[in-house]
Amino acid sequence: DDKGVRDVGEQTTTEDATTISSPGRVVYPALKLTKQDVADYYRAIAPHLLPEVVNRPLSLLRCPDGVEGTCFFQKHHADALGANVHATPIREKGGGNDDYLFIDDVAGLMDLVQMNTLELHPWGARVGDVEHPDRLVFDLDPGEGVAWKAIVAGARDIRDKLEQAGLASFVRLSGGKGLHVVAPIQRGPTWTQVRDFCEAFADAMATHQPTRYVATASKAKRKGVIFIDWLRNGRGATSVASWSLRARKEAGVAVPLRWSELGRTRSGADYPMARALQRAARLKGDVWEGWDAATRQALPTFD
Ligand code: ATP
Ligand code: MN
Ligand code: MN
Repeated sequence: DDKGVRDVGEQTTTEDATTISSPGRVVYPALKLTKQDVADYYRAIAPHLLPEVVNRPLSLLRCPDGVEGTCFFQKHHADALGANVHATPIREKGGGNDDYLFIDDVAGLMDLVQMNTLELHPWGARVGDVEHPDRLVFDLDPGEGVAWKAIVAGARDIRDKLEQAGLASFVRLSGGKGLHVVAPIQRGPTWTQVRDFCEAFADAMATHQPTRYVATASKAKRKGVIFIDWLRNGRGATSVASWSLRARKEAGVAVPLRWSELGRTRSGADYPMARALQRAARLKGDVWEGWDAATRQALPTFD
């Protein structure tokens, strides 16, 4: 069924009825990009983006006044989001259910854009089985003074150590300061088991190479080192979707890369909207080739 989820992009050539209001409103002032430009971006990128987000609970970053105005995260469903945005009940920590939101097609995506969504952040689990994650994300957050080359080396280091643990992994720029290393897993382990593995993995990296890495969130300890943010792997945590725009001045996109391309990048925001569109148009084959096979890899266990 992983195959089916990734094939959803094929349906995106069908037209939908969402009207974009205030199409001329400026969203990215530095680049003079409007709400219509954002809508055009998401419509064009939908075949690549949708497989990453459909049928997963989503957190949205909405910016009604553009990226230089106030933006806010939203994870709960509201009817005002549009007819193609769906609700799914999820148990909250305090007990009781709340309606989270998800989409399953391009019409839902365009509804979110109409509601001034710029960033899409999916759960690492799917609607219908939210208690069993199907991917790990290591978010590399560079501290002050860390060179891009060192971040690239850190990503490759994580890839190599994941491989030793039997996990193939994939890389994307975050569209901001850093990058993410993503490893699919066969569903089965709970969030607690997944989080524990990711914490232990990050801790081991930081313990063995303390001049390169830190595994604790405290900002004070980050100067000159990379924070391996394993906290993206807890229940309810999200990370930005591949091909999502970022609500930052330079309109960076969270682009997925082949490992062989990583050495040629210059920053986490190396692909602004226009360049990301070009990349998508020219892409041949699956940029994360081997992903489907890797969805069957087992999380290492220690018992
Ligand atoms: P960068 O490379 O600049 O760090 P990033 O996307 O990795 O970009 P982080 O600040 O490291 O940004 O955050 C990691 C992820 O945590 C985000 O992509 C987002 O999914 C989630 N996140 C961060 N802040 C919030 C928030 N206030 N509410 C909900 N989710 C958040
Ligand atoms: Mn990050
Ligand atoms: Mn982080």
